[in-house]
Amino acid sequence: MRIQEVPVYEFNELAKNINVMSAYLKNRDEEIRKNYQELERTHSELHSSYLKLEHLSHELEKSEELYKSLMEDASDAIVVVGEDESVKMVNKMAEEFFGYSARELVGLPLTKMLLLLNIENIPKIHKIFKDASQGLHIAEEMQIVKKGGALVVSRLHASSIESGNDRLVQAIFRDVTKEREIMMNLEKSAADLVRLNKMKDSFLGLASHELKTPLTVIMGYAELITTDMADKVDHTVLEMVGNISSAAMRLDNIIKDMVDVSMIDEKRLQLKIDDVHVNQLVRDAVKELAFFFSMRKQKLTLQLDESIPAIKGDMFRLVQLFSNVLGNAIKFTPDGGEITVTTSAKYLLRSKQSADSVQGQSIVNIGKEHHLYVEIAVADTGIGIDREDQVRIFDKFYEAGNIEEHSTGKVAFKAKGAGLGLSIAKGIVDMHGGEIWVESPGYNSDSGSGSIFHILLPLNPLVGDSSLDYMNLLH
Ligand code: ADP
Repeated sequence: MRIQEVPVYEFNELAKNINVMSAYLKNRDEEIRKNYQELERTHSELHSSYLKLEHLSHELEKSEELYKSLMEDASDAIVVVGEDESVKMVNKMAEEFFGYSARELVGLPLTKMLLLLNIENIPKIHKIFKDASQGLHIAEEMQIVKKGGALVVSRLHASSIESGNDRLVQAIFRDVTKEREIMMNLEKSAADLVRLNKMKDSFLGLASHELKTPLTVIMGYAELITTDMADKVDHTVLEMVGNISSAAMRLDNIIKDMVDVSMIDEKRLQLKIDDVHVNQLVRDAVKELAFFFSMRKQKLTLQLDESIPAIKGDMFRLVQLFSNVLGNAIKFTPDGGEITVTTSAKYLLRSKQSADSVQGQSIVNIGKEHHLYVEIAVADTGIGIDREDQVRIFDKFYEAGNIEEHSTGKVAFKAKGAGLGLSIAKGIVDMHGGEIWVESPGYNSDSGSGSIFHILLPLNPLVGDSSLDYMNLLH
């Protein structure tokens, strides 16, 4: 309340002062109320930040627990190393992997732990941990000696993790002992295979050479008996000698194939290059086999494009190639089946390459230039070939399907050969700078799924060499 004016001077002065004081007090009250409100707001803010902090530390605890449980149950050995380079944590797998208990390891300086595990080149591994703490992710393979003395191979992955303000290094040790063993066995098997393959090749060369001479003697004498001495020997003996002679001829054919394969392998086979009319060679090969087509009651259809140009090639070797492929078509097609031979000319993209560099590789080049090729396709209605065998049948001695099912004889159904025919065919095609491959829906002895053998021969064994001159010949 304000005090009104009072008639007495002194009282009036007092009233004035009291009024000033009361206004001042009112002001202060107001300020205190305001400060109090401010204080209350700050308090509530503080409270909510506290709650947030509590929640965060709870979350952190939870994620630490999650990390711990993940680490504990991990299938790899994990070691966590602190900034002071001492072991902070190890998981169950680490105890099992190293053979030491967590009690023995936790607290140890890193280098001591590495010494304990008999790790070679400790400075290098130490550096890996140091680099990992700088944020690098590093992997390294090493040998570890377990507590009992057993040797294990481990791949170490080190990376840094943050826990609060600490920068830790997490080292994961994976047991790769088995992997290493398998790799080493594989490498050893591969080396053994290479050695065996070499032995097979040298056996081929040696055996064919060593067998040739005595066989020539056997064949010579057999022929002598059956011709010049025919009237001097008994009829039964003559028949027996005839059998010896035909068996020797079969053996001679196999040896010839062996000689060819070993010559192709050693790159000793020389081509006699001439102008070759492919259609004529196909006809020659068919003529040679005509008897077998009729014996097996197979229908042969020739669809020969007469406009294809002559190519440069070795006549003898190309007839051998067609005979091998056609012979197989007869062998692997049931009686009454059909065999169709088609020839055509094709422009294909291929890069400039000499026949030599194509040898031994089944690479189909997709180059920038068109080259003219002659294609010969031999289609049959036979037993077909499974996809996984379609490349391997061109390897030497490879026979697809169940060998037990094979019969004997030169052209009997599924007749068993030495498995060299297609390997020679591929060798001859490669030397001509061409390609040979087979197309078939798969093996089926009953349905007659059939196979188509494709042979591509360039106009000239030297692919890309002056082919342009030949292009006009198509018309
Ligand atoms: P072989 O002397 O056994 O005939 P090849 O090298 O000529 O040897 O053939 C290898 C294998 O490829 C054969 O044993 C056969 O299993 C398979 N094969 C070849 N040609 C045909 C074909 N036209 N149809 C089905 N299978 C075939």
